[in-house]
Amino acid sequence: MVSLFQLFSIGIGPSSSHTVGPMRAAKTFAAKLQSQFGLEKIDSVHVDLYGSLAMTGIGHGTDKAILLGLEGETPEDVDPDVVESRVARVQNEGTLYLMGSHKIEFDPAFHLIFNKGKRLPYHSNAMRFKAYDKLKNEIINELYYSVGGGFVVAHEHAKHSGANDTVDIMPFPFNTCEELLTHCRENSMMIYDIVMENEKALKDEVQVRQGIFRIWKVMQECVERGFHQEGILPGGLDVKRRAPEMYSQLMHTADIDDPTEFMEWVSLFALSVNEENAAGGRVVTAPTNGAAGVIPAVLHYYLHFTPNPNDEGIIRFFLTATAFGILFKIGASISAAEMGCQGEIGVACSMAAAGLTAALGGTNEQIENAAEIGMEHNLGLTCDPIGGLVQIPCIERNTMGSIKAITASKLALRGDGTHRVSFDQVVLAMKQTGEDMKSTYKETSEAGLASHVPVSVPEC
Ligand code: SF4
Repeated sequence: MVSLFQLFSIGIGPSSSHTVGPMRAAKTFAAKLQSQFGLEKIDSVHVDLYGSLAMTGIGHGTDKAILLGLEGETPEDVDPDVVESRVARVQNEGTLYLMGSHKIEFDPAFHLIFNKGKRLPYHSNAMRFKAYDKLKNEIINELYYSVGGGFVVAHEHAKHSGANDTVDIMPFPFNTCEELLTHCRENSMMIYDIVMENEKALKDEVQVRQGIFRIWKVMQECVERGFHQEGILPGGLDVKRRAPEMYSQLMHTADIDDPTEFMEWVSLFALSVNEENAAGGRVVTAPTNGAAGVIPAVLHYYLHFTPNPNDEGIIRFFLTATAFGILFKIGASISAAEMGCQGEIGVACSMAAAGLTAALGGTNEQIENAAEIGMEHNLGLTCDPIGGLVQIPCIERNTMGSIKAITASKLALRGDGTHRVSFDQVVLAMKQTGEDMKSTYKETSEAGLASHVPVSVPEC
């Protein structure tokens, strides 16, 4: 089931696959213990992390996310400002409260294991949860995968996960862009109309619109908060937050006659979001956390730098971006552990290009063209975050993805929608490129920038 509200979900930084997904998996497991066995029967819980989660989980806050998830927290509702103190309490006391109520011993060094160098077959981001009773008998053993964008798949569902489940209830199912465009042609509808009709299979239109504006509000609050947070980002890389200074400069010394000034603002919007994300703040996964700045930055561009922005344009932007996010999820992946940064910044850039084109009144063919351009020029983009932290290159990369999305939209709007490479073809190219990419370039921090910029980031 892939809905707009799954692709755009409110959570916390720094990573959708390594923070948001693991928290959801841990909460799911803890809730299952509660409903199936009763928490009083549980004496201890062990968690094993594999693949990319084991390699870069520390830098991405996976350990903290697991602890909070076991305590019953969700990415949507957890207060980012109390995460550190909650985690410190577990570490200092050696105990945690399953679902917030049942106290068990939990020493992260013993009960939460990062199995570096081990990868399970289905997906690189694997988590195994086990629970034991007082006699040390294993009660349950569950395997989950964090497959990107905060989505979690249980092992028993892994073989038939994905958006294809939507065909049963959504009036306009599609697995390719050609199928989507065929729906549009046959019914004289825009892409955003198709997505709205599909969303209405789950919620009424008023709820969909309210939900979109709630997401947009959180994005705006994130940008605004990032403008005013000074200091060094956590994790040990000594990366300075740049958004406050840049904001001050643009507010006070900007040259209004400089036609390129909008680019600095767009970059600032993206920087602001991704510095918040790197600091573990409240962000909207869009469609991942590492790439969470692109869509808000392009939406702010629409709001501040295009003629006649309006609420309808915002709605069309989100609905259209959703269509292309779904197509990437079906046709390739939005997980950096599978696709490298193509699956994060590349996908966000393409979604934003499509959304902006729709908001600006483009045709379906121009929208498809913009989405294709947005991915075509991100093909081959690797994921090699220094020190396993979502900071370098991630924060600046969102600025590049945002500007590229605007360029893609402008190129498409200058044409009539006809073009040589289709969106479906670029998805195939992305998938093949991701599969051919060495695993060291897929969120393991073993190659690229991560290997050429040596750092010593503490692992605790
Ligand atoms: S390099 Fe790209 S894919 Fe990798 S963590 Fe950073 S933003 Fe995400």
